[in-house]
Amino acid sequence: MTTQDGQRDDGAPAVADATQDSTETMQESCPADDCDSDRAYYEMMPKPGGSYEVRLFTCVECGHKWRES
Ligand SMILES: [Zn+2]
Repeated sequence: MTTQDGQRDDGAPAVADATQDSTETMQESCPADDCDSDRAYYEMMPKPGGSYEVRLFTCVECGHKWRES
């Protein structure tokens, strides 16, 4: 006979932490067709074999990623 306690196993609430402290946001229009967000996270990406950096954007709304050319 199994005794069931009131303890339910809901699992840990998976907090989708999309907001990272280390990532800044800036005003940048999302290139995705079905998104009209104008804010995006950005981080500097060093170009391998190059001496300059490009910015890698991530849309705050849809998560679309693109690179600054
Ligand atoms: Zn977007």
